[in-house]
Amino acid sequence: MPRRVAVIGAGIVGCCTAWYLRERGFEVDVLERRDGVALETSWGNAGVIAPGYVTPWAAPGMPRKVVSYLFAAEAPVLFRPVASPALARWILRWLRECELGRYRVNKSRMQRLAFHSRDALHALRARLGIDDGRRQGYLQLLRGERDLAMTGPARALLEENGVPHRLLDADAVRALEPALAPGVPLAGALWLPEDESASCPDFAQGLADAARAAGVRFVFGCTVRHIVAEGGEVRGVLAEGPGSVSGRGATAPGGPAGPTDRPLRSYDAVVVAGAVDALPLLAAHGIRLPIWPVKGYSTTLPLAEGDAGPRHAMIDEAYKVAITPFPGRIRVAGTAELGSPALVPRAAALRTLVKVGGDWFPDAARWQDAQCWVGARPMTPDGPALLGATPVRGLFVNMGHGSTGWAMAAGAGQVVADVVAGRAPEIDLEGLTLDRLR
Ligand SMILES: Cc1cc2nc3c(=O)[nH]c(=O)nc-3n(C[C@H](O)[C@H](O)[C@H](O)COP(=O)(O)OP(=O)(O)OC[C@H]3O[C@@H](n4cnc5c(N)ncnc54)[C@H](O)[C@@H]3O)c2cc1C
Repeated sequence: MPRRVAVIGAGIVGCCTAWYLRERGFEVDVLERRDGVALETSWGNAGVIAPGYVTPWAAPGMPRKVVSYLFAAEAPVLFRPVASPALARWILRWLRECELGRYRVNKSRMQRLAFHSRDALHALRARLGIDDGRRQGYLQLLRGERDLAMTGPARALLEENGVPHRLLDADAVRALEPALAPGVPLAGALWLPEDESASCPDFAQGLADAARAAGVRFVFGCTVRHIVAEGGEVRGVLAEGPGSVSGRGATAPGGPAGPTDRPLRSYDAVVVAGAVDALPLLAAHGIRLPIWPVKGYSTTLPLAEGDAGPRHAMIDEAYKVAITPFPGRIRVAGTAELGSPALVPRAAALRTLVKVGGDWFPDAARWQDAQCWVGARPMTPDGPALLGATPVRGLFVNMGHGSTGWAMAAGAGQVVADVVAGRAPEIDLEGLTLDRLR
């Protein structure tokens, strides 16, 4: 069994993986190019954990939807074509996976991990006392009769999967959310009482603090440039950067911190949890994962004094925009944009977020101060993530969690740590490993 393990990436997925690896007795270094945990996609997400609602982006009807929005300036789903063979391959696979039978298979694979992950997250939160501002329940707001009618298939699926849910009329919604603006048309809402929301970066920070206290070393400002393997087996990594090191009795594993390129840092195993930007590290070993960044936008503002904000997380179904309360803050997040990987804030996206947030909760924040954050959902064409072993011995992945990485992180971290340790994971990994790429 490997003893010294490097985890590449300190997003929510890397932090959870590191925690469970340490729990299984490994010496763990987390190598992160940024100066702290959860500073990239894990920072600005909508914070929703809704296992019953987890669904692949490749769904029947989606191709038509994407085409119908093709020339719109702003829409819940945007396709901005760029010349890229990798993107073209991704889209071809995605189109194949939109067929109903494939959709059902992919959805059930994702839900297997999502329900397990919710249990793992609850156990971690309770055990470590992490305060991430959790709120119970999730509302799908329906502006008009058309939105209401379109909940039919979703409700049938929730029914089929035994996920508790209730259709509320407008009065019942307003009783749950007294600050909802009275002037906005509201036909009702779908209420999912067992789903929840919480701050992903707050949880990641709490977990990293606990992991550090348990002996995990976090090496920040450290960019991994290459994973070194000899004879088909991992030897370590080459990394560079100033590399501040924090951890119990910590020194940088390759020697003391310094501003120079690093020599080989030796590890018995490496887990790549670095999302989209870490894909070239795997490609260098012939491991080409079909993951593309599907961009999304959010804005986060301080909550005004008083009771003018939401009590629960919710999504405005007409705009596919989520509104989430966090301690002292309100976040509005949305848009799925396929095309250029460049993370550039977009004025039109921000306008939509501000419109939806301001429509429903006009007094909750100074909407005129909103700033645009952009993040990249690391998306596989079929939906489920890619977990576990690779053809290189000692090299593992925890990648491709798309639009549900916060909901999946605890469970995925646990099962990947089990695979590294040679233990049987608590869930069946059928359809969640690299085997499905063959
Ligand atoms: C607008 C939006 C809303 C979303 N809403 C939700 C939601 O409500 N619920 C949900 O479950 N999910 C949601 N998601 C998805 C979720 O945020 C992601 O799936 C999740 O954050 C992915 O986590 P990660 O740790 O894999 O990636 P990241 O958070 O991106 O972390 C990867 C880390 O790896 C580091 N890294 C990369 N390469 C290297 C290298 N070579 N060397 C060192 N470090 C490296 C990066 O610096 C980064 O810190 C949303 C996403 C977006 C964009």
